[in-house]
Amino acid sequence: MAFSEHLAQTSPFPLGIEIARAEGCYIFDTSGKRYLDLISGIAVTNIGHRHPHVIERIYSQLDLYLHVIPFGEFSQAPQNKLADKLASLLPDSLNCSYFVNSGTEANEAALKLAKRATGRHEIVAMKRSYHGGTHGSLSVSGNEVKKQQFRPFVPGTTFIDFNDASQLRHINKKTAAVIVEPVQGDAGVRIPDADYLKILREKCTEVGALLIFDEIQTGMGRTGSLFAFEQFNVVPDILTLAKAFGGGMPIGAFISSKKLMDLLTHDPILGHITTFGGHPVCCAAALANLEVLTEKESWLAGVHDKGKLFVQLLQHDRIKEIRQIGLMMAVELNTPEEVDRVIENLLEAGIIGFYFLSTRNAFRLAPPLCITTDEIKWACERIIEALDEL
Ligand code: PMP
Repeated sequence: MAFSEHLAQTSPFPLGIEIARAEGCYIFDTSGKRYLDLISGIAVTNIGHRHPHVIERIYSQLDLYLHVIPFGEFSQAPQNKLADKLASLLPDSLNCSYFVNSGTEANEAALKLAKRATGRHEIVAMKRSYHGGTHGSLSVSGNEVKKQQFRPFVPGTTFIDFNDASQLRHINKKTAAVIVEPVQGDAGVRIPDADYLKILREKCTEVGALLIFDEIQTGMGRTGSLFAFEQFNVVPDILTLAKAFGGGMPIGAFISSKKLMDLLTHDPILGHITTFGGHPVCCAAALANLEVLTEKESWLAGVHDKGKLFVQLLQHDRIKEIRQIGLMMAVELNTPEEVDRVIENLLEAGIIGFYFLSTRNAFRLAPPLCITTDEIKWACERIIEALDEL
């Protein structure tokens, strides 16, 4: 279905629901049909659609100013307050934020910072990872299907298997950075062993390589803590955020120490530049989003139990495995066709589920963190019915 002759498409079979509005955990189409959103715009609307606190802050900022100058020149209160809030929530070594427009841009900039800081250019990345659709991020993504038509890529990247400590020998004194999702998202929710990220951290420290955690999908409470790294007790040198960071508005960040970040001010000056990064309306929304998660609502505390409730209720002989951490879940079936049919059946029943980029045998569940236990029970009954229909 083409939405418009003039609107670019990314797939020959888009879901194509005609959106009228969205509120909390629900999306409404133009016919008035209501859908329970079990994917949060792919891990974006963690606090639900249009949280009133976010909307209020957006309106307030609209009345003051929109874009005034590219990032880093003028002092803008929404950027300053957001950076201060992040510094108060993160370890001291992650006390300096640079705001960008998207996840892929955050990763691009993180890779540049690692090269600038180490004077090295080699990157170690993980097989089956996804870090974004632009050239640099795609170069360090381990998704062959998405890459093969777009070669050549940035040279100097070595791919290793995620969660295999024996392969960490490939990280050496030539490595500028290791980029990793603490829990792999588009690979179908791959959760590392308890000590893997710790051993990885030690190896990076030993050889002087920077450790980049891409928490673009795992951040903002998705895995049950504000950032996934808190659960693994490992602090990266650079942290990248996007998706749910803006509470529904487009904003990303790469975050490191003030000492490292200051390298972008000289040799060359303007070491990373962006016109719209840190847009004041997006920063106001992102701060409101963090306030919702850490001060106004207690949803974060319930994420682990809600995730477990999904796993407990989703018992069906078509389900081969459920990989779950917090409210980040992959439900593995037997074939891609089964996945397609379940997603179609769920849409009929008023539920939005979705695919993974590179794991065709599984569908994703990543509901807003504010989903209630009654909604989870209702959704799981519909999912079981959808599986029964196969
Ligand atoms: N990193 C991860 C882990 C992601 O899941 C994604 C998006 N799926 C990205 C980076 C890219 O983010 P964006 O689409 O905002 O560029």
